[in-house]
Amino acid sequence: MSEIQNFIKEALLFNSIVDRTAERVRFGSYSERNPLLGKMATCKFCRTRERNHKCTAVIRKGTEVVGVAPHPKRQNPRLTRKRPPLFLVHQLLVEIERDEHPELENVPQAHMARYIEKKVNDWRREERHAKRDQQKLSRRINRGLV
Ligand SMILES: [Zn+2]
Repeated sequence: MSEIQNFIKEALLFNSIVDRTAERVRFGSYSERNPLLGKMATCKFCRTRERNHKCTAVIRKGTEVVGVAPHPKRQNPRLTRKRPPLFLVHQLLVEIERDEHPELENVPQAHMARYIEKKVNDWRREERHAKRDQQKLSRRINRGLV
């Protein structure tokens, strides 16, 4: 009797495993649908997220890691998530309310955030360049070149 019960128990367990696997293959996430791909990993040297990543940022001597190439920086850094330039964004939103930016009139709502980010970054770049140019001029004046 207990043998039959055990058999039924195991059959049910096996069935549930098969069902679960079938469900994962059909409705699961990308990695669940493709279990042979292996685990996603973040490279500790170049911060790339990839399966089977072969790092090109590491300088090796044999099997020993000798050095790491510096991580390339974005040319136009994204606005920070922790300290967003809220004042600039607020100012831009007020200006949009006052219809001072007719070029943003036809931008779809889904793309608005990206446009605002671009505007704010452009403002910052202008500020940076004005400061730089003033510094250059001041140095030239101080050296008696102008
Ligand atoms: Zn890497």
